[in-house]
Parts: sequence; C-alpha cells; structure tokens
Amino acid sequence: MTSSTLVDIDLKGLLPKVASGKVRDLFAIDEDTLLFVASDRISAYDVVMQNGIPGKGALLTAMSVYWFKYLQNKIPTLKTHFIKQSLPADVETALGDQSLSSSLRERSMQVRRLKIIPVESIVRGYITGSGWAEYKKSGTVNGIAMPPGLVEGQQLPQPLWTPSTKAEAGAKDENINPEKARELIGDVAVAKRVEELSLEIYTTAAKRAEEVGIVLADTKFEFGLTSDNEVVLVDEVLTPDSSRFWPKQTWEQNLGKQQPSFDKQFLRDWLVGQGLKGKEGVVIPEEIARQTAAKYKEAYQMLTGENTLGA
Ligand code: ATP
Ligand code: MG
Repeated sequence: MTSSTLVDIDLKGLLPKVASGKVRDLFAIDEDTLLFVASDRISAYDVVMQNGIPGKGALLTAMSVYWFKYLQNKIPTLKTHFIKQSLPADVETALGDQSLSSSLRERSMQVRRLKIIPVESIVRGYITGSGWAEYKKSGTVNGIAMPPGLVEGQQLPQPLWTPSTKAEAGAKDENINPEKARELIGDVAVAKRVEELSLEIYTTAAKRAEEVGIVLADTKFEFGLTSDNEVVLVDEVLTPDSSRFWPKQTWEQNLGKQQPSFDKQFLRDWLVGQGLKGKEGVVIPEEIARQTAAKYKEAYQMLTGENTLGA
C-alpha cells in the first residue's frame, strides 16, 4: 500500500467528474462505465474531516471487491456493478507518474454506470443506533412493531429491511417504513427484488462475518437499475463505513450498552470528547487517525483473511 493520504482525487482532467460524495469521486469512462474512486476522506456525524485516514480508500475498495466476488459466488443470481479494479490503460499512460497511478489504482473500481434506486437499503440483524432510539420511544423500528423487552445490541427475531431516504448532500437520511420505500421505488417487482436481495446479502455476509468472529449488526446497500429494470448491487459493500461490525467475543457482555466496533468509534469518541461533534473543518490528530486506520485494517484482515490488499 502506498503511504500518501489522498483527500482530493486529481485525475489531471483526464476523465470528466460526474459526482463527488463525502468519500468518493465518480468519473465517466464512457456512457456506460464509471471510475469509482474512494478517497481517504472520512466523515463522522455527517461532516467530512479536513484530513484523511491513511490507506482508508484502498482498504474500502479492496473490501468491496472482496465482497462483490464472495457474494457473486454465493448468490449466483446477484448482479453487481463491479467490472474490474484498474485504471483505464490510456489514463494510466497519460498520468505518467508511477506513484500517483498506483495510489489511484488501489482505490478505484471500474463499475457499470446505472440509475440509482432512491432509497438506502439498510438491513438490521441487531438493534442499535437509530433503530434502538426509535424502539425506546415507540416499541417499533421503522414503524414495524417489535417484541417488548429488547435490550440495546440484542439480536432481532429476524433480520429486518429498514430503508431510509437517500438525502441530498448536506441533508440527513430519514428512516422510513418499508411501505413508504416501496412507494418511492415505484415499481412493485423492483421493490420486492430490492428487499429480498438486501436480506439475502445480509444473511450471507453475516454468516461469513460470524465465522471470523465478527457480528454484522447492520449494513447499508444501494441498488441500481439497468435499462431493462434489472436490480444491480452498486456502491461500496459491507465496509466499516457502510456497516456496524462488532467483535463477537465481547458482544454478550456488552448487551444493554454501546458495543465497541471496527469503524469510526475512535474518531466519534474523540470528537464528542472535544466538543467537536458536527463541527466543520476539524483536523484529526495523528494518533486518532492512526488508531482509526488500524481498526479498518483489522476488520479487513479478519473478514478477508488477507494481510495485504489483494485485488
Ligand atoms: P452522497 O453521494 O449523498 O454524498 P455518500 O457520501 O455516501 O453519499 P460516496 O460514497 O462518497 O457518497 O459516493 C458514492 C456515490 O456514488 C453515491 O451517491 C452512490 O449513490 C453513487 N453510486 C454508487 N454506485 C453507482 C453506480 N454504479 N452508478 C452511479 N452512481 C453510483
Ligand atoms: Mg457512500
């Protein structure tokens, strides 16, 4: 892995940029193909920090690639947007800078460019976060009645599809009832496929995670649609940015409180401790960045069984 931290993705104008999210920049290779580039940016409480986490973009990409291959093998009917992990040859040549190309290559995927279905397909196997907050108030999760007496972090009777809206940049996603999500999706068959696939992918991944000592508490998927209405898994998948991974070993003893997790917990705790939660322009101290990078790496190594980033 190269050691430089890339916060801004500079393709030297070689490909047109079509979008820039909190973490990724998307470039058009052609009408049907995007270069999907994960920067080292990190967001917490919906705000992007000033500096990045070394190695994060490459890790998120390697993890997504691992899961795309794993899931396709386990769920033969699943279609994904993943094409390959490389830069287009002409871009590579035109860049003419070995270290820049290798830093870009390890954080990039070529993907199918698709119309994005306008809901975030969250699946929860355990009750925590916004699901727990709603349950405490009303005994429901996304408006779905849950059994009484659940404690924070407990496994749900079965995994739940708990979609949210996909808010515009700067706005907050909102949890919605599955019925409302079906309306937003618009097409009954598409909505059914999105729900079924979400649950099947969650269950498949949770089993893999469990085998290596990780509880997949919840995760978020996005889906795209082909011109003939086929539902395709897109975006990043099953990374610490899109999922809550908990160490299985300490899960039970932490029931009823917040679980330690393989993600931005160090950063979130530090922000809260400093009174910087939700503030713009925060610079993460080196030690917090280092600890956060180590957590991402640990999750990658446990889940994939790889010590180095393998494409
Ligand atoms: P936002 O885009 O709202 O800021 P985000 O911060 O999670 O959300 P990133 O992860 O940085 O976004 O960028 C990924 C973006 O790319 C998302 O908006 C996602 O919907 C979009 N996307 C993912 N896969 C595809 C695809 N195959 N075709 C087109 N867009 C895609
Ligand atoms: Mg995203």
